[in-house]
Amino acid sequence: MGRERVLTAEEEAVNELLMSAKAAEMAYGFETLDFPPSLNFMTVRHKIEASQVFKIIKQMPKGAVLHQHDTSMTSTKWVVEELTYWPDLYMCYSKEDFLLTMFFEHPDQSCSWRLVREVRASYPSAKEFDAFLYGHLSLFTDDPEAKYPNNDILWNYFVDSLTLMNDLVTYRPAWESFLYQGLKEFCNDNVLYLELRVRLPPLYELNGTHLTVEETMAVNNNTVHRFLNDHAHLYYGTRFIYSPSRKVDNATVEEYFQLMKELRALFPDLIAGFDIVGQESKGEPLKNLLEPLLKISAAGIPVFYHAGETAWMGLDPDENVIDALLLNTSRLGHGYAIVKHPVAKAFAKKKNIPLEVCPISNQVLQLVSDLRNHPAASLVAEGFPLVVSTDSAGMLGAQGLSYDFYEAFMALGGAKADLRFLKQLAINSIRYSSLDKAKKTKLMRQWTGKWKEFVASMLEQHN
Ligand SMILES: [Zn+2]
Repeated sequence: MGRERVLTAEEEAVNELLMSAKAAEMAYGFETLDFPPSLNFMTVRHKIEASQVFKIIKQMPKGAVLHQHDTSMTSTKWVVEELTYWPDLYMCYSKEDFLLTMFFEHPDQSCSWRLVREVRASYPSAKEFDAFLYGHLSLFTDDPEAKYPNNDILWNYFVDSLTLMNDLVTYRPAWESFLYQGLKEFCNDNVLYLELRVRLPPLYELNGTHLTVEETMAVNNNTVHRFLNDHAHLYYGTRFIYSPSRKVDNATVEEYFQLMKELRALFPDLIAGFDIVGQESKGEPLKNLLEPLLKISAAGIPVFYHAGETAWMGLDPDENVIDALLLNTSRLGHGYAIVKHPVAKAFAKKKNIPLEVCPISNQVLQLVSDLRNHPAASLVAEGFPLVVSTDSAGMLGAQGLSYDFYEAFMALGGAKADLRFLKQLAINSIRYSSLDKAKKTKLMRQWTGKWKEFVASMLEQHN
């Protein structure tokens, strides 16, 4: 991928620096078999952070993140160290060390509520209590094989963490801080633009009032604009893909459709389109929701379906790839199973419909253990359209896009992928975004400026 690109003399010089670092790390991996992309991200994150290649990628302007979910975007470390220290936070916490939920209000008598600051004070140390919280709010662990013996157990943990995070961050001021911090983490990682999949759970206030979906969207709108105003020289913007649960019936999807129409009218710049989310093997396949989904496509609402995020073949989750394409999806969320469906694959290639490849998420969620075996490696080799994205950066223990770019560069691109590969990934992320032509041009111009600064800065550092 990107091999037909012609680099400038300055870029060639940066490429030499990059490739000499890469060659050394590849040779070491080839010799010792100690190669981070072949091992679970959660056990090798520190090795990636020490990599020279990773350090270069971090400085690089990476364009856009097109596949990231709202409540898993911000690093759990920040949530624990910041939000859980706010004064009014309660937790419902059983004697068996089982954390049921956390709220900035005292919702009902369904369990005995205690103030988090009091529970923290009862622990031998705040650090110990914070580690306990971190374990519940993140999938990150030092021993993933022991904690997650199979995919269903892992997904149960994942859903528990997402639910707990959801309860914690839907307090309106907490959500504003969480969203702002998440954008900051991506912006600090040199990401210019984000398309965020949002479930839009209604926010609440301390006095017990719950905001409507429209009011919740207004809070989101204000927060993304506030962030943009504070970072105009570093950031381009944010759009939302409304992405409620796929574990629903046709009548509920009909309601999603009505809400989509309303939100698009109210926030035309902010709402990019529609998706439905959740574990594909447990939720409804697209074909079971056909009637309302066809209405959504017929109304001209752009759709960005999660499809084929599975290792199975010949079952509903992988066949979602075919239905997503037939429903006119603009991109395939994961599309991991597409290589098993050659006709669907040829169709997607012909129509220039890219996959949103999320290497770390696929590995942590147990689709593939060694990223050299990820199906996208062969897709890269044949020039299939794709972007690399994060899925759930904060909850998987990553921050920003650089970790996924590193995995893609080292494992999906192979030893010979060079600066042109990374440049192509960044350009693809802009090209395949939901923005209209004029806005894409504007974003591309901003990215090109940042890219030139990156090249100049790399040469300066190594002079
Ligand atoms: Zn996803």
